[in-house]
Amino acid sequence: MTFESLGLNPALAHACAQAGFTTPSPIQVAAIPPLLRGQDVLGLAPTGSGKTAAFVLPLLQRLLAGHPGGFRRVRVLVLAPTRELAAQVGDVFLRLAPSSDRPLKVAVLYGGVSINPQMLRLRGGADIVVATPGRLLDLLDRNAVRLDAVQSLVLDEADRLLDLGFAAERERVLLALPTRRQNLLFSATFPPEVQALADELLHEAVRVEAESQLE
Ligand code: ADP
Ligand code: MG
Repeated sequence: MTFESLGLNPALAHACAQAGFTTPSPIQVAAIPPLLRGQDVLGLAPTGSGKTAAFVLPLLQRLLAGHPGGFRRVRVLVLAPTRELAAQVGDVFLRLAPSSDRPLKVAVLYGGVSINPQMLRLRGGADIVVATPGRLLDLLDRNAVRLDAVQSLVLDEADRLLDLGFAAERERVLLALPTRRQNLLFSATFPPEVQALADELLHEAVRVEAESQLE
């Protein structure tokens, strides 16, 4: 199994090789094709199984295929439970993005640090936002970020997002998004609360599961 055989273009396959990924992990094998087709996906796999690249790679491919000129608008929004996880996901986008004459811009937004540099950063435009929900809501309240061009929404580590109170924040974030969009939910565990969130958010989703971790 290779990254290219999953439908990824040679530039992304090359970026995987550069990152030291020789073969796709089971969750990547299962999730990448439906994600590339634009379908909603529920991805369930244990911690350490490579869920981040499972959504980052196909989302990069779709972003690079569709890239509009003019001012950058946020087309991918990833919500992550903590500052550390948001920073990690942002790093994976940057690490796997093929070099191009119009590099994609990633804004990573989390609380516990001053909001002003984040507002300034957003003013320059971003293609991808990776955020913790609380800080994202603060920035929305200040009209510092627009999400009306988002094509794909990812809830990463959804079980932990819910532990941290995402149920209360969900509605306000969703209201800022277009109703027509791709929805992706990734989680290490699948308790009833995550199931309920998936039922609410996903439409005709492909459910993919992988038991095994990376070798
Ligand atoms: P999860 O979100 O499922 O807990 P991560 O996406 O954080 O897992 O990935 C765990 C580790 O595996 C990371 O260090 C990542 O770089 C590495 N990894 C991801 N995909 C591959 C792959 N196909 N081959 C080798 N290592 C990989
Ligand atoms: Mg993860």
